[in-house]
Amino acid sequence: MTIWSKIAGSLLGVAVGDALGATVEFMTRGEISRQFGIHTEMIGEGYWQLAPGEVTDDTDMTMAVAKGILMDPGNPVRHIARFFADWAATDPKDIGNICRRVLTEGIRRGTDSEAEWLEVAELAHLQSGGRSGGNGSLMRTIPIVLAYYTNRDTMLHMALRQSRLTHYDPAAGECVVLYCDLVGRIINGKSLKPAVQETVREGSEDVPFKCNLLTEQIQTTGYAVHTLEAAINCAYQTDSFEEALTMAVNLGGDADTIGAVTGGIAGAYYGLEQIPSRWLEKLAVKKELLDLAERIYRLNNK
Ligand SMILES: [Mg+2]
Repeated sequence: MTIWSKIAGSLLGVAVGDALGATVEFMTRGEISRQFGIHTEMIGEGYWQLAPGEVTDDTDMTMAVAKGILMDPGNPVRHIARFFADWAATDPKDIGNICRRVLTEGIRRGTDSEAEWLEVAELAHLQSGGRSGGNGSLMRTIPIVLAYYTNRDTMLHMALRQSRLTHYDPAAGECVVLYCDLVGRIINGKSLKPAVQETVREGSEDVPFKCNLLTEQIQTTGYAVHTLEAAINCAYQTDSFEEALTMAVNLGGDADTIGAVTGGIAGAYYGLEQIPSRWLEKLAVKKELLDLAERIYRLNNK
């Protein structure tokens, strides 16, 4: 498997999971099975009334991270924040609560430096009653891995900084670090199951993970810990990209983000060629994502 296939597979995998899962976001498992049997096609609609292949905030913010990195790979964080703010200013239909709070306040203040963004994020954390441990920084972090997988320290440093721009709760940062480490190991050649087992061992007391949960035990809230654990289980318990993503989105709840996070892992392991073409061809932002993947790939592969 080539590094290119892993990088493109992971980035496009996020968007495929988002577009596939958005159809059933907020539905329970019972509602999904009554309506679809098993949901397997990229048909749009759902709560957001999407066109087939249309993506949501998970992919929009992932692209913002990628564009920020490409502006200045040595010092991308302020650029990433600016792309977040530019996106929030377009009044997207789907934006998470903590991101809405932080980005709206940042735009109002004209926030520009990383230090100022951290202040705004802390304020939003306090104003939301300490609820900034959502999966909004987890779902968008894959481009950090794809750009910095050759240097683990840099990768984890950048990952935490991009997370803290909006998510003050340390649990969100911890999940981002575990996720980046997992996908980084896969890009660097580790097999999927041993890589997941390592992540499970690295979970802390605050952020514990299992990878052998029964489907009914998997939680599908917007809490970062639940989302990462759901994605880990979907990747670990299946044997192809299609199976992993199908398991992820049929969990329901925050299905687009569970799909996106699972897609980042499974895409890196199985590669671009294993993403079913019936999904890839429908993806509205396919061309733009392939272009971003290629430019990120070239950062380490001249
Ligand atoms: Mg979404």
